[in-house]
Amino acid sequence: MKPEELNSFRKMLKLLQARLRGDVEQLQDEAFSTSESGGEQRSSNHMAEMGSDAWDLDFSLQLVESDQGVLEEISHALKKVDEGTYGLCELCLQQGLPETKAKIPKTRLQAIPHARNCVDCERKKEMGL
Ligand SMILES: [Zn+2]
Repeated sequence: MKPEELNSFRKMLKLLQARLRGDVEQLQDEAFSTSESGGEQRSSNHMAEMGSDAWDLDFSLQLVESDQGVLEEISHALKKVDEGTYGLCELCLQQGLPETKAKIPKTRLQAIPHARNCVDCERKKEMGL
């Protein structure tokens, strides 16, 4: 991959990382503030009986968790940029393919800049092979 291409992917990853970090913080704020601020607009006693306050909280925390997973993937990808292995499929490399054959297509990286594997390997992984 050309240095300028690598640079633009690094920028994309940083941008995504910053955006997700902002979102995560915001979601956590929302999740932890519902018990205090939620009572005014809606009837909190009624909602508590329905159990939906608890459900809202669970749901928000789940979102936080999945964002956190993506954040880990992004910092992993940024590490690969620094190590010079960005854009290479990890599973192909594990199988002993040379770097020239282990490339993740750029169109895939543009869609998922933190992708670890090429499409074939990702499919195999999802099928548990
Ligand atoms: Zn692969």
